Amino acid sequence: MKENFTVTPSVQTRVRSASANCEVAIIGAGPYGLSAGVHLKSKGIETCVFGEPMEFWANKMPEGMLLRSPRVASSMSDPDGAFTLEAYEAASKKEPCAPLPLDTFVEYGRWFRHQLGSDLDLRTVRRVDRTQPGFRLTLQDGTQIQSASVVVAAGVGPFRKKPTVFQKLSPEQAIHCYEGRDVRKFAGKRVAVIGAGQSALESAALLYEAGAEVEVIARQAEFRWIGQHTWLHHMGPLTSMLYSSHDVGPVGISRLVAYPKLVSYIPLAIRDKIRKRAVRAAGSRWLPPRLANVKMTRGRSVVEAKSVGNEVVLKLDDGGERRVDNVVLGTGYQVDLSRYDFLPHELTREVEQFDGYPKLASGFRSSVPGLHFIGATAARSFGPLLYFVAGTEFASRELTSHIARSRR
Ligand SMILES: Cc1cc2nc3c(=O)[nH]c(=O)nc-3n(C[C@H](O)[C@H](O)[C@H](O)COP(=O)(O)OP(=O)(O)OC[C@H]3O[C@@H](n4cnc5c(N)ncnc54)[C@H](O)[C@@H]3O)c2cc1C
Repeated sequence: MKENFTVTPSVQTRVRSASANCEVAIIGAGPYGLSAGVHLKSKGIETCVFGEPMEFWANKMPEGMLLRSPRVASSMSDPDGAFTLEAYEAASKKEPCAPLPLDTFVEYGRWFRHQLGSDLDLRTVRRVDRTQPGFRLTLQDGTQIQSASVVVAAGVGPFRKKPTVFQKLSPEQAIHCYEGRDVRKFAGKRVAVIGAGQSALESAALLYEAGAEVEVIARQAEFRWIGQHTWLHHMGPLTSMLYSSHDVGPVGISRLVAYPKLVSYIPLAIRDKIRKRAVRAAGSRWLPPRLANVKMTRGRSVVEAKSVGNEVVLKLDDGGERRVDNVVLGTGYQVDLSRYDFLPHELTREVEQFDGYPKLASGFRSSVPGLHFIGATAARSFGPLLYFVAGTEFASRELTSHIARSRR
């Protein structure tokens, strides 16, 4: 099921004859898989990227969402820097805007992927088995592909966190905020949004604007907003000494995490502290005005959640009670390789891990020869930049140079 795609005049594509084997199979066609595929291909390495391009962004993120990352950190990576967000906007005669709307980013990714031509296969990978040598991939229709190396770029979709207290609620009553695009179905409903990070706060704004009656409930005593010290961002050359353009993390840490290789040499305990500090729960600067009429409850935890008739009854730790129609969980995700259903237990067991994250060496190598992980799963080894699109540049170059070298 190689994809039929339209070739836009500005994009060169090469048609590869269908083959049951490839040197490198990449699982996932999000920003990381697409960027890595383009880099590997540029070195003449026979690569196949599997999956629907930008599926997670197009289907799981709420309609109307805006990117939290600045424009300069929202381009995917290609070897010549020719397929940037700006290049897409110029080619499609789109007016640049900030913050970047979700739909523009999805369209950008779908334009970017044309560089892969027939090396993109829309089918999902159902299973990966280790063979000697290499790997056998079984696709959704049963087709089997043999590959020397596998790069897992499958994102965080399966890692959604549903705190224990909400486990008894049905999937319709308690949904995660990256579980579906349609916020309009909540119009007229009473919704409790749990969390204090970007996803929770932006979901609350979108739900309110869609006509829901919304309350945000967060454990944090205060809500935090990204870039609180705006003056630090307007000091010209001094600002660029304090913050990298990726804008991941606070002053100082932002510069450090822009060098993932350097971060990988820092002892794990310190690296973890840096990672957590860089991505602590906070909302974008442009959210507070949109939340002005949303009830915000701080410093409170939900201690019990039960379904009573058509309602959800929430008990808070101060004895308060809320009756709502739905709960939207902005409770983040927890990387855990065993939740990738295409990786059998026999294989994940062989991958050395730190609490669900693979332990990776240079070239994004796991302890299983030929098996690589990029994106969020690599953040414990290479730092928090790998949670973001801005990390595609480092990941693609590092991975490609390793695979090109080991091939020689
Ligand atoms: C609500 C939210 C907002 C965010 N906002 C930003 C932001 O503003 N800026 C930013 O830089 N980052 C943001 N992020 C982080 C963002 O998820 C990552 O930056 C980016 O998506 C990472 O790209 P990826 O390719 O690793 O993962 P994804 O974009 O998730 O892509 C992985 C792809 O793999 C596919 N896949 C999974 N399993 C298989 C399989 N078995 N076979 C084939 N395909 C498979 C999935 O369908 C998916 O499309 C946000 C995340 C969330 C949840």
